[in-house]
Amino acid sequence: MANWHALPPEEALKLLNSGSDGLSEDEAASRLERFGPNDLARISGPGPVRILLRQFENYMVLVLLAAAVISWLSGEKSNAIVVLGILLFIAILGFVQEYRAERAMEALRKMVAPEARVFRGGRLVTLPAGNLVPGDVIYVEAGDIVPADARILDASALEAVESSLTGESNPVRKSPDPVREDAPLADRSSMLFMGTMVTYGNGRAVVTSTGSDTELGRISGMIQETPAEPPLKIRLQQLSKSLAVMVFIAAILVFSIQVYRGNPVLDTLLIAAALAVAGIPEALPFVVTLALAYGTQSMARRNAIVRRLPAVETLGSTTVICTDKTGTLTRGEMTVREIWCGRRVEVTGSGYVPEGVFKVDGSEIDPGAFDALRETIITGALCNNSEVVFEDGWQIVGDPTEGALIVLAKKAGLDLRERCREVTEYPFASDTRRMTTVHQCGNDLRVSMKGAVEVVVERCSYVMDHSGLRPLSDADRKRILEIADVMAGRALRVLAAAFKQIESGDLSRDFLERDMIFTGLFGMMDPPREEVCGAIDVCKRAGIRPVMITGDHKRTAEAIAGELRMLNGGVLDGSELDSMSDQELSDRIESISVFSRATAEHKMRIIKALKEHGHVVAMTGDGVNDAPALRSADIGIAMGRTGTDVSKEASDMVLADDNFATIVAAVEEGRRIYENIRKASAYMLAVTFAEVAVILMAVLVGLPAPLLALQILWINVVAEDFPAIGLAVEPARPGLMNERPRNPKEPILSRDVLVYTIGTSAAMLIGTLGLFLLNLDDGLGYARTVAFASLGICAIYNAYSSRSFHHSVLQMNPTGNVKLLAGIVASLASVVMVIYIPVFQRAFETLPLTLDSWLQVWLVSTIVIVVAEVLKRSMKTNSQGSVGSPGE
Ligand code: ATP
Repeated sequence: MANWHALPPEEALKLLNSGSDGLSEDEAASRLERFGPNDLARISGPGPVRILLRQFENYMVLVLLAAAVISWLSGEKSNAIVVLGILLFIAILGFVQEYRAERAMEALRKMVAPEARVFRGGRLVTLPAGNLVPGDVIYVEAGDIVPADARILDASALEAVESSLTGESNPVRKSPDPVREDAPLADRSSMLFMGTMVTYGNGRAVVTSTGSDTELGRISGMIQETPAEPPLKIRLQQLSKSLAVMVFIAAILVFSIQVYRGNPVLDTLLIAAALAVAGIPEALPFVVTLALAYGTQSMARRNAIVRRLPAVETLGSTTVICTDKTGTLTRGEMTVREIWCGRRVEVTGSGYVPEGVFKVDGSEIDPGAFDALRETIITGALCNNSEVVFEDGWQIVGDPTEGALIVLAKKAGLDLRERCREVTEYPFASDTRRMTTVHQCGNDLRVSMKGAVEVVVERCSYVMDHSGLRPLSDADRKRILEIADVMAGRALRVLAAAFKQIESGDLSRDFLERDMIFTGLFGMMDPPREEVCGAIDVCKRAGIRPVMITGDHKRTAEAIAGELRMLNGGVLDGSELDSMSDQELSDRIESISVFSRATAEHKMRIIKALKEHGHVVAMTGDGVNDAPALRSADIGIAMGRTGTDVSKEASDMVLADDNFATIVAAVEEGRRIYENIRKASAYMLAVTFAEVAVILMAVLVGLPAPLLALQILWINVVAEDFPAIGLAVEPARPGLMNERPRNPKEPILSRDVLVYTIGTSAAMLIGTLGLFLLNLDDGLGYARTVAFASLGICAIYNAYSSRSFHHSVLQMNPTGNVKLLAGIVASLASVVMVIYIPVFQRAFETLPLTLDSWLQVWLVSTIVIVVAEVLKRSMKTNSQGSVGSPGE
């Protein structure tokens, strides 16, 4: 293999049979065949066989297997066969659901797969990073994760952090100059390595190796991905375990009492085993997985892509959403509306269409004839890394702020980029808030700077206006800042422009950015997104505080916040924040709704202060510096369109459309999913408790067991599971976003929900045991069949009623959840089947029920609905006040 780092860039290109325009599409396709995709083998989700085997790995299956063996040995072969059938059913159901959930997660993972910018046939295109091949010429800039190993061709202030390879966490300066052949990895400054982060600058590089041939591929071989288990699932698994222990003790108790009373040991052993199985809500974990998987899919349809599953649970309890302004609250579509250069110049036109005129006091002027205006516009075009292209209308490639300046230059006919060659560049970064370039234009070396007004003015010593060039006085500085304030107050984003001509080749930043000539201010319009106002109103009703954290000017931020009706508290500027202690910030944090001129470090302090007040904080971020804040927020949210790879990597969720309203939609989904899991758990536990209680109670008072082992099993693992699946996907109920966020510390079975669960299970116990006693005169077999039917119907009533803890069954839309209805039909069919089909009758020892008995069962079982209604009312009364208006 060539020592790419030691070769000159042209040599590397030649060896790779490539050119500075990159490869052609055909050549790239044939290389992809030859070298394979640019992927590292991933240990991602488990395969189908693994998922199937996993179904047999639990305690319940072992108990069932033991029950089948006992039945077989005692000659009850049909019993054994049915138990094995049930086992198979559990395995298949579990497998199908888990497999689908796994595929759903896989699809989500693909949606956030990394991309790369590549020159193909001379055009810069964005491709999935997996399609890169050796010889491709890539473009990287601050915030990118390097998609393959590559030899640098040219670089502007390019820096990368390579800690994942070298352990060194400081950024390394990169340049195209070859280095010693024996240079260690950490010193190969002419190379970029896959998986490292570009933290500053930009550049082009030719791909030298891909996939497992890269340095990263060689070191790690495989990327281990251990998906985080949602805490909710872990808590429910723990709950299931403690339940299992309790039920196990109850089973031993039943067994001892029954044997003591002289019942046949084998029969009793089977009942005890069935009870032990019935006590485990075995479908609970997969109902959780299902609710989360379906939920994340529907979030993805609403443009919120969840990267870490636990985020779903946290989303539902979010109390503060800290959001960027540009592109998230606003459309991120900039248009320069006015320029100030000693006088106010209006610019007409709309969007990115490069057509418009320049007016002073209503009369059209020639922008080229007016020195300060001309230089301001030229600075905007040269100090720029973006492009405006025509593809389905005029569009920006790159940063919209810079795109707007290109459009402006085109309107004025002053886009000099063709005539000037860039010599060096100090790119824009949100902490320096400025950008500086040097261009060779003919014989002149022109330094151009644009950025936040106070930052640029500080570096100027001269001013150019209609009266010519003169030194910049303190009064001028003051006036410029005042004008900028007025412009910002009209919700304009304001940038200042400055330039100077130099002669020497000194390209140090210090020298370049000294003694500049101030020429003018750009005022850009970035209108708020229409849907955001509605989303902010939803937040207010839902007890969630939206907070704007922006790098923009205080006045601009304030004006936009005002338009969006989110200016409930004060505005705090980054400079004021700097002079405050953490304690002072914490004291004021509850009253501030806008932070202006904020940096990534400010975001960290804000998160800390909010957390101290017990808030659950969602925080957006897009830049490379935002990664720590995204990690330390409860929910880190990255921008799918404009966000850097680094910010996406650090986030829990990515917004495909960068839109604030999407965050609010995701919070609603989070609340819905949590509530569904809660409902399904309450329902399944109620049925479980009822089954155990029916047997235990009967045995304690000396009655024969009202249900046989197989009957218990059937209800528990077949009839009960179908509706649970339906409950897990219940649509959001009205009023869900009219309530305050859930307390994250509250257990999944809160006191209210626990009372509901115990109450409904007590109703099921009374109904089933009552009907059993009532029918005992018709023979034990008949009474057991009635009890079996009753438990089945009670469970169905309970499932329907559990669709909402807030609405009465009469208020619910009967066809609002078709999956649940299908589950109820399946559950009913499974019960009827066991009572009427002869093979099942023999195995389950059931007898056909009369119409009267069915009527009795249907009527008596309604006790579950009655009790549920009473409990719902009391839940509503309890929660009033703390829950706000439930909106029902
Ligand atoms: P938000 O954080 O809400 O997205 P923002 O986009 O305004 O806000 P930054 O991008 O950090 O925040 O911009 C901060 C300031 O830097 C802007 O107010 C502007 O004055 C200046 N600025 C923004 N983009 C550029 C750029 N490309 N070149 C030079 N200066 C810029």
